[in-house]
Amino acid sequence: MLVVHHPDQALHDPDQVFRTGKFVAQPDRAERYRIFLDVVTRARHEIVVAPLDQAEAITAVHDPDYVAFLEKVHDRWIANPDYGPVVIPNVHPTHRMHRKPTELLGELGWYSNSTSCPITADTWKAVFASAQVAVHGADRLTAGGGPIYAMCRPPGHHAYPDLMTGVCYLNNAAIAARRLAQRFGKVAIIDLDVHHCNGTQFIFWEDPDVLVTSIHVDPRLSAPYYAGYADETGAGAGTGLNFNQPLPWATENEAWLGAVDRAVARIRDFGPGAVLVSLGFDAGAEDPVATFKIDDQGFAEAAGKLAALRLPTLLVQEGGYLSPSLGGYLQSFLAAFEAGAAQQPS
Ligand SMILES: [Zn+2]
Repeated sequence: MLVVHHPDQALHDPDQVFRTGKFVAQPDRAERYRIFLDVVTRARHEIVVAPLDQAEAITAVHDPDYVAFLEKVHDRWIANPDYGPVVIPNVHPTHRMHRKPTELLGELGWYSNSTSCPITADTWKAVFASAQVAVHGADRLTAGGGPIYAMCRPPGHHAYPDLMTGVCYLNNAAIAARRLAQRFGKVAIIDLDVHHCNGTQFIFWEDPDVLVTSIHVDPRLSAPYYAGYADETGAGAGTGLNFNQPLPWATENEAWLGAVDRAVARIRDFGPGAVLVSLGFDAGAEDPVATFKIDDQGFAEAAGKLAALRLPTLLVQEGGYLSPSLGGYLQSFLAAFEAGAAQQPS
């Protein structure tokens, strides 16, 4: 399997976020990048470094003003000697407030909705590289072959066109899917991360060319809280092309794989030219988010079901956090996908 990455992805590594009234460990550590790279190196996959020359692919999805803000916010922040070393917002508009200011703290709050997206000196480089990894993965898939694993980190599926949220800054999967739609016409996304892909859902809400399916923990119980419900099915030309399957806390392999089967059936009905898998491993039983109870076998079986679609497929890394099992989840999924893709159609 071809693997795409970029070393700049490890440059973003803030160690703490403020939650539940205290500083806690920031889940998306650079160590994740090194674990993923170690897995694909040991498995002897072909590994390429993404070029960083497709900035316009990002603004095909994201608001250019937001992208420019992300790029410069740390420079603006450190110009104030009274501010701490990490950019963290402390004020946000609500749905009753809709005027964008120019002062730094106000503008930062406008483009974010929580304290979960800390920004350090090199965050932009890492975020940009992660998006470019997705773009290059899409371009390589367009050139033929596949499957391709875009080893994105930081993840992206929570990010909206002009909003960072949930450790996501740019929506790597959406950027890649829009790119793929240019070549393949219709594209189906299946998001396996344990959290709902609220950013991806928003971006393709009225899009007739992109089916979004997501399997995730019930948003009444977990982030992103405000989206991911089963009655959210798209609008306008995208009516019926958003398929959410919220599942209970502590869901195990059998129920989760049943949801994968239902998503795969929807993808078959849609008839896409390519599939994008938003590949999170935080549904894993050993993941520190401690939500679902999926194991290596469950991830492998999901991979087999997706490989059986026999469509050009781009795997885009989303969440999945530090535990001794993280590398094993990835190894199991990639090995099973490759084995499934190599089988002759029956
Ligand atoms: Zn997640």
